[in-house]
Amino acid sequence: MKIYDLIIIGGGQAGLSVAYFLRRSGLDYLILDDQDEAGGAWLHYWDSLKLFSPTDYSSLSGWQMPETKEEYPLRDEFIAYLKAYEARYEFAVQRNTLVHRVTKDNALFKMATNNGNFYAKTVVSATGTAKNPYLPSYPNQSTYQGVQLHAVEYRNADLFKDQKVMIIGGGNSGAQILSEVSKIAKTTWVTLDPPQFLPENIDGRYLFYQANSSFFDATTDSFNRQVSLSDIVRVESVRDGLERDVYHAVRPFASFYKEGVVWKNGDREIFDAVIWCTGFKPNLQHLEALEVVENNHIATKATRSIKEPQLWLVGYGSWTGFASGTIYGVGKTARSTARELKAHFKKRL
Ligand SMILES: Cc1cc2nc3c(=O)[nH]c(=O)nc-3n(C[C@H](O)[C@H](O)[C@H](O)COP(=O)(O)OP(=O)(O)OC[C@H]3O[C@@H](n4cnc5c(N)ncnc54)[C@H](O)[C@@H]3O)c2cc1C
Repeated sequence: MKIYDLIIIGGGQAGLSVAYFLRRSGLDYLILDDQDEAGGAWLHYWDSLKLFSPTDYSSLSGWQMPETKEEYPLRDEFIAYLKAYEARYEFAVQRNTLVHRVTKDNALFKMATNNGNFYAKTVVSATGTAKNPYLPSYPNQSTYQGVQLHAVEYRNADLFKDQKVMIIGGGNSGAQILSEVSKIAKTTWVTLDPPQFLPENIDGRYLFYQANSSFFDATTDSFNRQVSLSDIVRVESVRDGLERDVYHAVRPFASFYKEGVVWKNGDREIFDAVIWCTGFKPNLQHLEALEVVENNHIATKATRSIKEPQLWLVGYGSWTGFASGTIYGVGKTARSTARELKAHFKKRL
């Protein structure tokens, strides 16, 4: 029975980043990933997706992403970069291997997969969020007979030609998808709060070097509210949507009915389709048996599980380190995770 020092579950940007910082550690590690090629969740996002982080802020540790055609890389350009990154550092990855369940017995983790069992002394879980799309629930949702899909299932607007489509969610996904769909369909945008577009002179890069800090607005001679990673970046499709004046967000409806939604004033409106751009929750199902998951969350000190100290969590979102769910941000948390792993094994020698 082969026992690895470490198994990294998930071969997206977070898993690869951890492996990058372990290159010269001598640890016997393996990345298990359920897909048949590199690219992580990016393989599943819609065709025209433009990253909201400019090229120089869309690079993983150690190797800058090559120049892209435009300032904001296309989804396919980023996937090509991830593939090249994986090949460049020759990471040990086993593909087409889905970890169903992690258990622990006598200080050893057992990973039950579709390709048999794997054993390791430590585990880094880096399974992202894309496999756990979040859909808020509304009354009578199951009675609605129109098309419902989450942004992760959306490929392009073709399906919606000449239809009435409701887009729910006020972040970057909602704004980009709405821009595309509104070219060939009648759209209604539903958001919990008025959507926040980053000002024209502040691009996605800003988020990454001064995220969450106030910025000075010369026009009002004052400091604006805090910039947030969920603010809408004016990538090309968003600028186009703004020029076509398609962004008129309204607050949520009261319930669904068979053919559409009932607004809070009692009016009914027919919709052919609803696209949920409502985000994701961490994908932690494979860790349930370890009894560390509570409400889609694992209590950690930095990236290390408090209840299960041989387990680390990387990526997912800010609870595992500021911006660790982004390309630029994951490097920092991956580096500190690798440091902890190296220290852990050094102590045991
Ligand atoms: C629409 C959208 C646009 C975004 N745009 C940007 C952007 O412009 N800039 C930016 O910095 N960030 C962006 N992000 C955020 C972030 O960079 C991505 O979500 C990124 O994919 C997260 O990487 P990850 O490695 O944590 O997870 P993933 O990319 O999801 O990788 C996880 C890998 O693990 C595999 N896996 C999952 N479960 C298992 C299992 N049980 N067994 C084996 N393998 C498993 C998955 O198939 C996948 O290959 C965006 C996110 C979304 C949703």
